[in-house]
Amino acid sequence: MKVIKIDQKDWDEGLGKLYDEFRLFGPVKNGDIHQFQPLTKGELPDLNFSNTRLSVKSAVYPQSQVMFEYNLDEKQEGHHIMKPASFDYPARALLGVRPCDAAGFLIAKKNFDNPDYRDPYWCESYEKTTLVGLACDSPSTNCFCTSVELGPYSEQGLDVLLVAVDGGFQAKVITEKGEALVTKAGWDKNGDEKVIEHQREKAEKRVNSAIETDKLAEKSSKDLFDAPFWEDMAFACLNCGTCTYSCPTCWCFDIQDENQEDQGIRMRNWDSCMSPLFTLEGSGHNPRPLKFHRVRQRFMHKLKYYLDKYEDGIMCVGCGRCINLCPVNIDIRKISSKMNNYQP
Ligand code: SF4
Ligand code: SF4
Repeated sequence: MKVIKIDQKDWDEGLGKLYDEFRLFGPVKNGDIHQFQPLTKGELPDLNFSNTRLSVKSAVYPQSQVMFEYNLDEKQEGHHIMKPASFDYPARALLGVRPCDAAGFLIAKKNFDNPDYRDPYWCESYEKTTLVGLACDSPSTNCFCTSVELGPYSEQGLDVLLVAVDGGFQAKVITEKGEALVTKAGWDKNGDEKVIEHQREKAEKRVNSAIETDKLAEKSSKDLFDAPFWEDMAFACLNCGTCTYSCPTCWCFDIQDENQEDQGIRMRNWDSCMSPLFTLEGSGHNPRPLKFHRVRQRFMHKLKYYLDKYEDGIMCVGCGRCINLCPVNIDIRKISSKMNNYQP
């Protein structure tokens, strides 16, 4: 790990050099919100933002993705032709990723890249991606990253961490991917780690919200599943799915064929455990027919099943999006407290 300094002029010039080698993504202002999108040559990311409305997960894991194409008219050696999607993704750099969102990729990685299964779509895309983070000096009221073992200056999942200072950035170069990117950009001035540490301490004190999880590991899943509070907790839920689509750690998808006569595509699309269709079986049976079943599933997965399976924290990075965006104010911090303090 090394620390460098990037003056504003060098930042602007360096991004110009990166365009030759990387497809660049960054936050762009669109109306009242910021969203991650591909940057055109010469376009600079707008780093004057709190966080993007949706997480950056879609840059690695698109909302809709073609898995393969097929044509039932064409045959090769007696078999129908199936053309798999190309995995020849271009190298990409995501600029200005908040530390919470970068850590979200590490949670999703456990699902997509593990000893039992390697999802080539997600893995190839992730491996081609360099993550340039932006430390968070003004956490929002509903951010609680410091209570999920992260923080506004967390380096987890990042290749480079930028820290905004007067006139540019101090930056930590964390991985070899990060080193390759800063070399390509020509950023090589020595930085000062003390400046970063000083700002980090101040930023961590500004995170005023927290989630209560300390007793979750010792609770029984069965007791929590059968707890009497789920119907109350779920009463106002609209099952709109906003909380899952906006979450950097939610990974579920559905697979569908789009057919036109004898040809078509098979694609996968983000799906949500909050939707009644998510678990509807072909027979018509639905194991989660009621709204509270689905709300319970979302929180049991995030706060209990995941914790029990991986034993290294909850499936949440504290970004606060599901709290900010839920139209009926369902709050993961309140539900976690209920679960954490539940006595059967
Ligand atoms: S955002 Fe709120 S209302 Fe919508 S599904 Fe999630 S908890 Fe329910
Ligand atoms: S705060 Fe909500 S949206 Fe953010 S990581 Fe946690 S569960 Fe997902």
